[in-house]
Amino acid sequence: MLFQHLTNVKRTPVVRGRCTRPWGFTLIELLVVIAIISLVISIMLPSIQSAKELAREVICQSNARNIGTLLQYYAQDFDNRFPVSDNGPNPAQWRSPYRFWSVALAVYLTEDESLLAPNWYMISPNQPESVVKHFQCPTLVGVHPSERSTRSMNNYGNFFSDPDCFNAGLNLEAVEDPFRRVAVGEGAYSYSPEGKMYRETFRRVEEMGFYHNGGEVTGIWKFMSFPEQYEQTDGRGTFLLVDSHVVSVKREEIAATPESGSGSYFTTPY
Ligand SMILES: [Zn+2]
Repeated sequence: MLFQHLTNVKRTPVVRGRCTRPWGFTLIELLVVIAIISLVISIMLPSIQSAKELAREVICQSNARNIGTLLQYYAQDFDNRFPVSDNGPNPAQWRSPYRFWSVALAVYLTEDESLLAPNWYMISPNQPESVVKHFQCPTLVGVHPSERSTRSMNNYGNFFSDPDCFNAGLNLEAVEDPFRRVAVGEGAYSYSPEGKMYRETFRRVEEMGFYHNGGEVTGIWKFMSFPEQYEQTDGRGTFLLVDSHVVSVKREEIAATPESGSGSYFTTPY
């Protein structure tokens, strides 16, 4: 009833003034409004970017945890060992049906194993997005969209000169400090057309690149002319430890061996 009453009230017609421009902005007013909007955007943009980066890092860490779960599946199927980073070029020596660690784990992600060609390098463009996304850090693929895998695995077990050790994979029972041993890190080995390079498979801890850096992607290794010559800016990286927990740490927190540095985490190849 009240509503009916209100709608029945007659509107008073708006009386226009003598102004010849009843409605509108002067140029000055428009410029002031634009300036204020620009200022607001410039103030907010960094926080929007860092919020986006935070969201990407959450996904990155979640993917790392999923890889930890897949590693445990693999270990159950292969005598409590992890896959090796690279089984090498000779299929007769392969312990797993697949050459590379990521493909060995991808078996647990798809019903269609025909998608997983055994000898493909890491993750192939033909493999489904639902599989590939687990091996990607959103920050890194944002920088380099052609990357199919931006993670690499510790090279333990890859002793090409030792046939007994070769292809064995990391024996989990032999790891004394699984909470400090890095299993998987960010930064697959690859070149890009721009000359940037992602590292690394833990051959040298000082070559590992970190990419998350408080909202800005700055930790890109720049390939110069030799593999030893890189520029690096500081940042963080996401790492999966052997005991399946995930950490986001700075480079200084990681050492090649307990003897070689003061890091809390180690990447020693076994
Ligand atoms: Zn990441």
